[in-house]
Amino acid sequence: MSAHLDLDEPEPAVADDGVWLTCIECGETFAPFAEIRYTCDDCDGLLEVRYADLPTWDDFGAGGSPESGPYGVWRYSAGLPFEEGVSLPEGGTPLHYVPRIEEEVGVNNLRIKHEGMNPTGSFKDRGMTVGVRVAKEVGVDRLACASTGNTSAALAAYGARGGMETLVLLPAGKVAAGKVAQASLHGARILEVDGNFDSCLDIVQDLAARGEAYLLNSLNPFRLEGQKTIGLEIMERFHADEGTYPDRIVLPVGNAGNTAALYKCFRELRKAGAIDEGDVPKLTGVQAEGSAPMVEAVEEGNDEVRRWEDVETRATAIRIGNPVNAPKALPGIRETGGTAVAVSDEAITDAQRSLAQEGVGVEPASAASLAGLRKLRESGEIGADEDVVCLTTGHLLKDPDAAYEAGGDPEPVPNDTEAVLDHLGE
Ligand SMILES: *Cc1c(COP(=O)(O)O)cnc(C)c1O
Ligand SMILES: [Zn+2]
Repeated sequence: MSAHLDLDEPEPAVADDGVWLTCIECGETFAPFAEIRYTCDDCDGLLEVRYADLPTWDDFGAGGSPESGPYGVWRYSAGLPFEEGVSLPEGGTPLHYVPRIEEEVGVNNLRIKHEGMNPTGSFKDRGMTVGVRVAKEVGVDRLACASTGNTSAALAAYGARGGMETLVLLPAGKVAAGKVAQASLHGARILEVDGNFDSCLDIVQDLAARGEAYLLNSLNPFRLEGQKTIGLEIMERFHADEGTYPDRIVLPVGNAGNTAALYKCFRELRKAGAIDEGDVPKLTGVQAEGSAPMVEAVEEGNDEVRRWEDVETRATAIRIGNPVNAPKALPGIRETGGTAVAVSDEAITDAQRSLAQEGVGVEPASAASLAGLRKLRESGEIGADEDVVCLTTGHLLKDPDAAYEAGGDPEPVPNDTEAVLDHLGE
């Protein structure tokens, strides 16, 4: 099945330098920076950033500030609302070969796009470099987010870099240690909410609506602009190495921001004439069994996602029951001919170990992509002839407790060489 992307575009009523916001539900358009809004005034639908001119490969280059370096988010500034952002810098992450896993899974080609190699250890940095730049443009001084951890770490670091105040709302007791440590040291004010991520997001949206803070969750359409560069990097690098584009991208899904961002990336490349319809990778989302509302919607063929009130998984970064970007992501999965699958926590830990054995250290949520690929290979939904890229979203050190549990225990030995040799010879 080949992709059929919806490339229709309503004319903007107002645009700023060829950039505007469009409501994905009713098509209403808005100027991008004149006022702060996160959803449509008319129907509350999600907004998307649109451009009068869409760049193709030749238009991308080593743009951005000297500090941004040639490979990274700002290489693709021709497809972003600004020439440069508040940068640490971010992007330009490796696309690892993993020959042993490739052979074991049995696909033609398997590469791992390791987003854990970003400055704060997750892909959230790509969204924040653009989002914090927009915050400066609209002239706010306090930034806020709800977070399962990584968004708060990224917001704290980029907010600090931009000299702004940051406020983060976390579900108490459900955030991995490394992430809280980052948010804390980078100087965010951390509010621990007695509720889950979805309740934190409800509250922070209320705060933003009352003008208390600028919202930098992935509901903010500018975050997804930064995150779409994951897709640009994968397509550019894979093509340079293999002379073709990947058949499929498999990724963990929480709020479905990345799924939405990759879909937007492919639509823009198609519109610019940079790729053909047959080049569009199949978007394949993976969730944990205890937290799988997107998988439910895809399996049942629903246009809307039912909010799961109780969610549980050791992959805390994707412990989300109400994926806010579902209306942007579901069409992406469908139109690219992809799918969604749920995996067990055990399968996630197995995948985390396999990646670690190839030297690629990821946090549990990240390993969901490989666990999902394995499951879909076993069921035959993914063919042996496919070229696949798995996205790993966060670094191993984000969740040291999960890593300890998945790894082997240290062995106590006496303070003596002979005794150590004895122990090794046991
Ligand atoms: C935020 C996050 C996700 C979820 O990404 P979405 O774009 O919200 O679907 C997955 N893995 C990690 C490590 C994350 O930090
Ligand atoms: Zn609308």
